[in-house]
Amino acid sequence: MIKCDHCRHELGHKIHRYWQMRFCSAACVEAYRHRLDDDTRLKISRLDVAAAGTRQTGALSRYRDSTRLSPL
Ligand SMILES: [Zn+2]
Repeated sequence: MIKCDHCRHELGHKIHRYWQMRFCSAACVEAYRHRLDDDTRLKISRLDVAAAGTRQTGALSRYRDSTRLSPL
């Protein structure tokens, strides 16, 4: 049985698609996309911190900048 990739409910005859994912409703597509955006932002800021290497203070201030500037 195919299930919604966001809320895990079984899909009915109407399937909403986003990339290779399947959702039961447009609301689930939106919710998934928001979650994806958050995950992507998190990964980017983590990469940014990792790229800063051992310069701890620089990494921290850069992390604060990225969180403050995130468009929510
Ligand atoms: Zn759903």
